[in-house]
Amino acid sequence: MPHEARITRFAPSPTGLLHLGHAFSALIAAGRGDTFLLRLEDIDTARCKPAFEGSIYDDLRWLGLTWPSPVWRQSDRLYHYTSALARLSAMGLTYPCRCSRADIRAALSAPQEGAPIGPDGPLYPGTCRNRTMADAQPTDAIRLDIARASALTGPVTFTDTGPGYSQRVHQMTPSDMAHSIGDIVLARRDIGTSYHIAVVVDDAAQGITEVTRGADLFAATFIHVLLQRLLALPTPAYHHHRLIRDDEGKRLAKRDAARAIRSYRDAGATPSDIRDLLNLPSAP
Ligand code: GLU
Repeated sequence: MPHEARITRFAPSPTGLLHLGHAFSALIAAGRGDTFLLRLEDIDTARCKPAFEGSIYDDLRWLGLTWPSPVWRQSDRLYHYTSALARLSAMGLTYPCRCSRADIRAALSAPQEGAPIGPDGPLYPGTCRNRTMADAQPTDAIRLDIARASALTGPVTFTDTGPGYSQRVHQMTPSDMAHSIGDIVLARRDIGTSYHIAVVVDDAAQGITEVTRGADLFAATFIHVLLQRLLALPTPAYHHHRLIRDDEGKRLAKRDAARAIRSYRDAGATPSDIRDLLNLPSAP
């Protein structure tokens, strides 16, 4: 019986050289789709450098991956992210926030020691929650009122096909969302949008049926499913994979040059050596 075409993607930010962890994610994603898309998540213009784009293409091709053109670049799509944000604002779910990181730390200090940490850091204490969008200044960030938003949607649910997730359906109730996610930033003051909005809008616009990404983004997936529900966008299946760690057990970072694909290539490794290192089956 013909199955629905599976569309999967790898969505790196061009902020450095690809390392083993990226190769792992890209190879797993490519192996799980009939069509594999590459998308450049470059909204953070201060950190993204066009020079890294060429090396991303080059390393992925060397690994044996191919993808259709054109490659979407998020910096070309800000209009779509701003429109999605405007819809959420029109639903009364957003508010402007002028708090700096230091303000948030101060508001969370002493009495609330051990304040929960959400996907984007300490849970926002709600200082600006009673402000309205009419009062938004160009220097404000825009936050999602998570209690209101999740009261509208009810519990959010997604399925996970990743190996470490024995319970394949994951759910968060509105009260879990308020207590473990909090009022996340939907538009940063410097770039006018955020990873959360951009990824949700683009996964839907590209018809992605399965999102493959590291387990570090597991909690953020609840935000994404919530935004999909609010914006009437489909929810793909998710596949969260284990993280590739260094010898000390730390997650690989882009500054860890020794694990850059480029360094392995320069040292004479082959693409199948990389698969072996990652315990992935050989290329079909
Ligand atoms: N740009 C994100 C990263 O580099 C992609 C995450 C995702 O797959 O949604 O980690």
